[in-house]
Amino acid sequence: MDALEVTLYVFSALAGLAIGSFLNVCIYRLPRGEFFSRARSYCPRCGAAIKACDNIPLVSYIVLRGKCRNCGGRISFRYPLVEALTCALFVGNYAAFGTHGLTLVFDVAACALVTASFIDLDTMEIPDSAVLVLLALGLITFAPFGGVSWQDKLIGCACVSVPMFLLALFGGMGLGDVKLYFVLGLLLGWQKVLVVFFVSVVLGAVASVAATIVRKRRGEEDCDFSDEEYKRLPRGAVCAEGETPQPPKKMRFHVVPFGPFIALATAVAIFGGDALIAFYARILGI
Ligand SMILES: [Zn+2]
Repeated sequence: MDALEVTLYVFSALAGLAIGSFLNVCIYRLPRGEFFSRARSYCPRCGAAIKACDNIPLVSYIVLRGKCRNCGGRISFRYPLVEALTCALFVGNYAAFGTHGLTLVFDVAACALVTASFIDLDTMEIPDSAVLVLLALGLITFAPFGGVSWQDKLIGCACVSVPMFLLALFGGMGLGDVKLYFVLGLLLGWQKVLVVFFVSVVLGAVASVAATIVRKRRGEEDCDFSDEEYKRLPRGAVCAEGETPQPPKKMRFHVVPFGPFIALATAVAIFGGDALIAFYARILGI
């Protein structure tokens, strides 16, 4: 590795940290509709404006030991997590694509997916702005620039999103997830969007089984309500046993945000998709 390459790795890491810090602002402000407000970043607990010197990505969190300088309130672990994640993805993209234009394309895609994932965790909704950014990336990366042919892109748009759209009509999946599969198919082509699909379903299934086990361990048994009964419950209602009523099983499937799993699976497809596809092709003898 020569000096130039080391410099570019360091630059990728620093850019990732700085942009990750900006994504934290997007994740907080976009769902609240205050994205364009000029207000400085403030502590959500005491409202004190955060000084520039306390706003250095990752470093400030470690120096302040995760506490607000003004009120001592805990700062969510999510802030450094988003910064570290963006940093890792930028470095990974540079390692995978070097000085090719695709590095920039997938850096922007990483930003859109990180933002969409955390907003999905908060609000159960994937913002259309993130979908539109990915759509634009899919449209500008046509071969030869992106290496994915337009045939692969067109099949990619439909092969996962159409079946998922039909599933969404029956309430099995959110429309935001369908839109994500559509634009990812356009960006990655059908081979890799299939990888995204299978990996996201496996990750989602593992996570929901894990969540069920944790709930059982904690003794949080499900109360039995029909959809209609659940909708009619007043806010904060408790069961006879003193537990908060849980949504009926069919509704609870909606309640698991799926965007983060699609985003994770996209990282797997981008960094390991070729290896996974080659592995399965060998097994199937294609
Ligand atoms: Zn504070």
